Amino acid sequence: MKVTMITGDGIGKEISQSAMDVIDASGADIVWDIVHAGEDVYEETGTLIPDGVFKSLEKNKVALKAPMTTPIGKGFRSVNVSLRKKYDLYANIRPVQSIGTIETLFENLDLVLFRENTEDLYAGVEKKVSDDEMHSIKMITRKASERIIRRAFEYAKENKRKSVTVVTKANIMKLSDGMFLEIAREIAEEFPTIEFKEILVDNMAMQLVINPYQFDVVVTENLYGDILSDEMAGLIGGLGLVPGANIGDDMAIFEAVHGSAPDIAGKNLANPTAIILGGCMMLDYLGKTKESNNIRHALNEVLSKPENFTHDLKGTATTSQFTQAVIQQMKR
Ligand code: NAD
Repeated sequence: MKVTMITGDGIGKEISQSAMDVIDASGADIVWDIVHAGEDVYEETGTLIPDGVFKSLEKNKVALKAPMTTPIGKGFRSVNVSLRKKYDLYANIRPVQSIGTIETLFENLDLVLFRENTEDLYAGVEKKVSDDEMHSIKMITRKASERIIRRAFEYAKENKRKSVTVVTKANIMKLSDGMFLEIAREIAEEFPTIEFKEILVDNMAMQLVINPYQFDVVVTENLYGDILSDEMAGLIGGLGLVPGANIGDDMAIFEAVHGSAPDIAGKNLANPTAIILGGCMMLDYLGKTKESNNIRHALNEVLSKPENFTHDLKGTATTSQFTQAVIQQMKR
């Protein structure tokens, strides 16, 4: 089965190789259509996403994508945001699950965040009113809100989860967040077996660090989802551990939640777990659950031994040592 691999920049190159090596060793029989995008490509060609990337995505419809740098303050959009918008990959699904024996604030956490992926302040509707006044417009539509909220409830039902929590700031943004919340209340009525909770985003940020066990499936808008999923990652040991899926009606791009980590790029220090777990979500999507379960099991075993911990987990293992440990574990 052929899938697109977008290699990215920063730590993207190191961890994408690691993910391909582990997935190949699982016997999943994936043929990688490797394409490049991001800052390095921009410096060489003047474009962040060359045509070959779009062609490959449109042919294969499924991709694993490494992180990419988005230069701050320059006049172009993030590659990630561009791909999500162009292919209407409206559901960003981020499972945050404790793994191994990493020392963290909380154990046995199992949260799934559904983040709306196409609008909100990320729609890029910005205007310079004067040198001293800039506007960024928050766009929320019924269509986009309905489909992400419905997807979260359907996921909860299919996976026998207990509750869905909707996160907004509807007390202040009465029209945009108010509508998102109203739609959630309407859809919740169609799923009477699932407990429905609503919470304001500032309180959510605090409750997560006090008692995250009160949450299960969480659904929210684009910006809140971006921030809260990094916070959730912190609860289980950091950004190196959380994968994400960007899913539309006929295309899906899987990734790590984290960025290109320029501070550790090129040093063989990055933790590849998040992108490998992104690969597992991709294998599940392709129906290859035996292989994805084998990889998850191996990751759990490897992350139960501190000698395999990478720099972010206060260990000394390199990216390549970690990758080899996972591959060896799968052979046992
Ligand atoms: P980041 O996620 O790249 O890094 C934040 C911190 O976490 C850094 O200290 C980094 O070293 C650490 N970290 C992240 N992933 C790690 C891993 N796998 N192993 C070990 N440590 C890891 O966030 P940032 O520094 O704010 O952003 C850097 C660049 O990445 C920016 O240009 C941003 O726009 C971009 N970004 C891209 C994506 C994506 O491609 N999906 C997502 C977020 C940010």
